[in-house]
Amino acid sequence: MKNMPRVLVVEDEPAIAELIAVNLRHHGFAPTWAMDSETAQRELDAVLPDVILLDWMLPGESGLSLARKWRKDARTKSVPIIMLTARGDEADRVAGLDAGADDYIVKPFSTNEMLARIRAVLRRRAPEQAGGSVAIGALLLDAATHRVSYDGQPLRLGPTEFRLLHYLMQNAERVHSRGQLLDKVWGDHVFIEERTVDVHVKRLREALGPAGSLVETVRGAGYRLTAQPLAQARPASAD
Ligand code: CA
Repeated sequence: MKNMPRVLVVEDEPAIAELIAVNLRHHGFAPTWAMDSETAQRELDAVLPDVILLDWMLPGESGLSLARKWRKDARTKSVPIIMLTARGDEADRVAGLDAGADDYIVKPFSTNEMLARIRAVLRRRAPEQAGGSVAIGALLLDAATHRVSYDGQPLRLGPTEFRLLHYLMQNAERVHSRGQLLDKVWGDHVFIEERTVDVHVKRLREALGPAGSLVETVRGAGYRLTAQPLAQARPASAD
C-alpha cells in the first residue's frame, strides 16, 4: 500500500492554496488546506503532517510566529516546515530559518521547485529514522529515539540541527566544507545557499549549550565536530 505523504498547506489566498493542492495531489501527496492560523492549529492537533508549507503573510498570527511556536512544541518540533514568502531579501530568509523553518520558497515559484523542496526535506528526514546511537565525549545522540543529551542533560534540537549534528558526530574530527555539508545533510542543495549552513550551525551551537564549543569553525575550510575543542581560546563574544 502506498503511503502518501501528508502536506499541511497554510495559505490564506484560496487561488494559490488550490493551485498548490492540485499539484500536490497530482504528484502523490495528500494535501490539507488551512487558510488561517487557528485552522492550521486545529489540523495539526488532529493529524500530524509529514511536512508543512507555511505562508509568511497570514491574517492574524504570522507564519513566522507559527513556525516559532510549532518548533517549540514537543509534538510538532520534528515536522519539517517550508516557508512560502513573497519577501526576497536575505534578512527575511534568515529570520524564517531562525524561527525554525527548514527551508523557504520565494513566491512566485514553480511546481517543480516546490516538489523538489518537499521531496528534499522528506528525504533528509528518512535517514535519521533508522540507526543507533553515537557518542562523542559526554555528547550522546540516539538516532532511533531522536534524543540528544550532554552530560546526561537532554538537549532540544530542531530537525535540521539534529541531522547536522548526527552527520558531524558520525564523521567527527574531520573538517567539512559548507558545500560538503549541504550535500550530505541537506541532500538536495540545488536551491540552498551556503549561508544556510552557517545559520544552522549557529542554531546548533545555541541548542547544544555547553557542548556548543565542540562544533568548531575551521577558518577558510568549514566546520568540524571535535572531542577536543580549542574554543576556550576564543573570545566569549565570538558570533
Ligand atoms: Ca498570504
